[in-house]
Amino acid sequence: MFVSDEYSKRRAIFLDQDQIPESWYNIQADLPEPLPPPLDPSTLKPISPEPLFRLFPKELVAQEVSTGRWIKIPEEVIAAYRWLPRPTPLMRAYRLERYLDTPAKIYFKWEGANPAGSHKPNTALAQAYYNWREGVERIVTETGAGQWGSAVAMSAAYFGLKARVYMAASSYRQKPGRKIMMEVWGAECVSSPSQLTEFGRKLLERNPDDPGSLGIAISEAVEDTLTHEGTHYCLGSVLNHVLLHQTVVGLEVKKQLEEVGEEPDVMVGNIGGGSNYGGFCLPYVAERITGKNDVEFVACESKAVPHTTKGKYTYDFGDTAGVTPLLKMLTLGKDYRTPPIHAGGLRYHGMAPIISWLIVKGYMRSVAYAQREVFEAANIFARTEGIIPAPETAHGIKYVIDEARRCKQSGERKTIVFNASGHGLLDLSAYQAYLSGQMENWEPTQFNYPNYTN
Ligand SMILES: *Cc1c(COP(=O)(O)O)cnc(C)c1O
Repeated sequence: MFVSDEYSKRRAIFLDQDQIPESWYNIQADLPEPLPPPLDPSTLKPISPEPLFRLFPKELVAQEVSTGRWIKIPEEVIAAYRWLPRPTPLMRAYRLERYLDTPAKIYFKWEGANPAGSHKPNTALAQAYYNWREGVERIVTETGAGQWGSAVAMSAAYFGLKARVYMAASSYRQKPGRKIMMEVWGAECVSSPSQLTEFGRKLLERNPDDPGSLGIAISEAVEDTLTHEGTHYCLGSVLNHVLLHQTVVGLEVKKQLEEVGEEPDVMVGNIGGGSNYGGFCLPYVAERITGKNDVEFVACESKAVPHTTKGKYTYDFGDTAGVTPLLKMLTLGKDYRTPPIHAGGLRYHGMAPIISWLIVKGYMRSVAYAQREVFEAANIFARTEGIIPAPETAHGIKYVIDEARRCKQSGERKTIVFNASGHGLLDLSAYQAYLSGQMENWEPTQFNYPNYTN
């Protein structure tokens, strides 16, 4: 057992509830060049915002393209953040440091303690609010592993909206707990591909056991939205407004590190669509772009879905059917069949345009890991810090542990900060597969990159 000069040390840095940031931070104000615009696939010209009003509240469409630096968080959303509750603690991982015998200091932002268990309510509550304000009664979305679907279900319950969630069939079978959570919160959860949309019926005709994917579920959710009046669509990652809402995380981290007089040397996180890591680090990326810090930014992904380490920076659809606008992003191609890894939240073919741009321009770097080494890191973290992390979160933990070990070799006293995006209490079968030696690694080598523009 570790005995304790720790008793006198500060484990968690809490902020008062009146210290929730008043505004979200918009990185688009500080990029040295504008992001490449989304294109209309039929004309390959930048899309106009009007068609998007059928899918999203006007305010969210405005946020998507805004270049204003600070966007005020509506009072009702601040109230919802307090209810969640926010601010979340920033934790010091003393026992992990001790276990690794490293001179590095390790901090993590803990986003897994709210009722949905991940960072996703930070944007789900905001999106539900804007829909409620516009008088929309029903929202539809997709979910890969179920975390986003449960965040939407909880947020719809908060604002009194109806919700339907298309959940990728493989997760629907693997993770009944997530589906039940959504139903308890009053939402409908359907296995995707489903009989409820034309696209779903087409896929099921071809293969009744189609395991589905996030891209397929997005296509179904968009089709559902367009065929039901009074319905809007919600997306849980990738888009600029989603990363914007998540900056509440990074802005809190800034206040918390300032309170203990620390500056990060390395900021680490996992990337599925890029929202939790973006929200966590973008306030610091802004200072890096303007030369005010030289923080190292490291984004961690799965070797089974190497969207940024093996992806191509090009225009691609956000979904599988090809109904969304084309986004310029690092992508493996919309038809990429993501292997059934346990980190369901990392199974997406593309990457947020903001994160893609930062990686391509060299402000950020990315690394990829196989799932067995990731679960080994997750077990070390659970045994030292107590928290059983989400498989997605554990990708970042793998890098943190390796970096802290490098610090032991070099004697550097780096401050490493990572975003703990969620807990893994509904992923216990994945832990069981790891502990019983039945976890497989996947590493595809063949990709079919899109080529819609030249
Ligand atoms: C959804 C999810 C992710 C991946 O999505 P991002 O948009 O990249 O954040 C990571 N961790 C958890 C816990 C998630 O639920």
